[in-house]
Amino acid sequence: MSSVLDNPPAARESAAPKTVPAQTDGFHLVIDALKLNGIDTIFGLPGIPITDLTRLAQAEGLRVISFRHEQHAGNAAAAAGFLTQKPGICLTVSAPGFLNGLTALANATTNCFPMILISGSSEREIVDLQQGDYEEMDQLAIAKPLCKAAFRVLHAQDIGVGIARAIRSALSGRPGGVYLDLPAKLFSQTMDAVAGRDSLIKVIDPAPRQIPAPDTVQRALQVLESARRPLILLGKGAAYAQADDEIRALVEKTGIPYLPMSMAKGLLPDTHEQSASAARSYALAEADVVMLVGARLNWLLSHGKGKTWGGPDPVKVAKKFIQIDISPTEIDSNVPIAAPLIGDIGSCVSALLAGIGDHWRKPPAEWTGAIADRKDKNLSKMAAMLRQDAVPMNFHGALGVIRDLVKERPDAIIVNEGANTLDFGRSIVDMYQPRKRLDCGTWGIMGIGMGFAVAAAVTTGKPVIAIEGDSAFGFSGMEVETICRYDLPVCVVVFNNNGVYKGTDVNPTGHADPAPTVFVKNSRYELLMEAFGGKGVVARTPAELKSALQEAVATGRPTLINAVIDETAGTESGRITSLNPAKAAINK
Ligand code: ADP
Repeated sequence: MSSVLDNPPAARESAAPKTVPAQTDGFHLVIDALKLNGIDTIFGLPGIPITDLTRLAQAEGLRVISFRHEQHAGNAAAAAGFLTQKPGICLTVSAPGFLNGLTALANATTNCFPMILISGSSEREIVDLQQGDYEEMDQLAIAKPLCKAAFRVLHAQDIGVGIARAIRSALSGRPGGVYLDLPAKLFSQTMDAVAGRDSLIKVIDPAPRQIPAPDTVQRALQVLESARRPLILLGKGAAYAQADDEIRALVEKTGIPYLPMSMAKGLLPDTHEQSASAARSYALAEADVVMLVGARLNWLLSHGKGKTWGGPDPVKVAKKFIQIDISPTEIDSNVPIAAPLIGDIGSCVSALLAGIGDHWRKPPAEWTGAIADRKDKNLSKMAAMLRQDAVPMNFHGALGVIRDLVKERPDAIIVNEGANTLDFGRSIVDMYQPRKRLDCGTWGIMGIGMGFAVAAAVTTGKPVIAIEGDSAFGFSGMEVETICRYDLPVCVVVFNNNGVYKGTDVNPTGHADPAPTVFVKNSRYELLMEAFGGKGVVARTPAELKSALQEAVATGRPTLINAVIDETAGTESGRITSLNPAKAAINK
């Protein structure tokens, strides 16, 4: 059966009724509804009851990227949503496949990425009476608390509404994950093709602009103008908003130093003279007014309290916050916000720019100069560490090579996960363009690596460098087959230090079992890529890493570089050791 939406609307009008098949079905209505709304890619894993949906979707011109595990398909959908402002679609089978996709759905919601998890499900009559169907599970009930919205469609004529509601829910306001439950029986339901076509909805303005109220703009400007030591903090909401020009103009026009959160790096080049990244601790502790732009005061920002912010009094830190966010309930979540500015970032930043007249006074030189001094000192310290040519490599030596490569190829996308590999990677590898860095995000989740890398390559066609701790890589490593199958320009660099954090732990009992944090020593991760026809390389020195990386990026060939790192180099939990309860000193 061919789709009623094969032809553009004008052609359909003139050709109807001759070329329109008499009947359509649930499969085609799902595909047509997605296409009508500009969805061009589905990430998923085929199986009962959605196998034919994946086949038909491909036949009807959608790109279908098929994974080895649903979690990674879900992560790919989430990353695609972040990069494109269109909800990423993940398609899974029922119960176990659905559950595998759920981690990614929850993670997308936590990170404010628009994504729709569409799962086939078993028959309602049997599930609701708990009669033991194939892969029986009340998926809608389970998904609900883990996402922004959840819907089930029972009748073919409601597919258009179901998909429209899912798209609008994922994109409007604070973006997030949406679950769409499609029971098996729905797909083979047939209906009149013209009525089916008419039942579909093209979502108009799915993420309407939200203009901030003028008095809130004035209040924000007053607080900003009162500052002696102002700071702008850019979060991944600012990167998602794609208001790049406005944000850059605001930063440059005000002359205020700024700090990017990790996925906001590159909104302005990290080498920008107003970047305070290399003086982060000083800037956070000393600023008197902080303007948050699409960043939450969660654990990543020490909840806006305490020593990081110049404590000691955790609640009454001696600073005022301005917060730009699309979600009004985010305000005051951790500390009082003096000037909430509610709206979409593009509109809010434009309103601030319009309100900043020619009378604007740039921040005092004592403030910008003090930041610049610290920056200079820290950057020269860092440069010395990056110059070390230690073998076996340490994190600085290996990441320095990637830093140089990204400078040459600022269009490359970095995916980064691990503990030390993430923490060092974030601070060492400068970004020059917006939305070029994808990482563990709000949860600090492991396992996003290959899913995010696939999405980055598929949605942008640009080279992708996945900087992976050896432990983090293990979560999604099998997807190197997916990378090879679709011949994606992904270079995975595994930072191999033989274990979680590092590879030196020993079993204190003397038993043959290794310590829980230790892996097989000297693992040959590169062979995993070779198994599927990609290129595998071992790099033991910065020079070897450099040449392998340059070749991978130049050729665009799927590559895995096993970067051998000193197994003593890592620290426990990277930079978040404080969150890791340590064993008590008993029996000593
Ligand atoms: P980071 O981890 O980089 O600090 P967060 O994920 O904590 O960033 O914060 C992102 C914030 O951005 C969320 O509070 C979200 O509501 C907000 N946000 C997302 N998109 C927009 C938008 N288009 N306009 C305004 N705020 C947005």
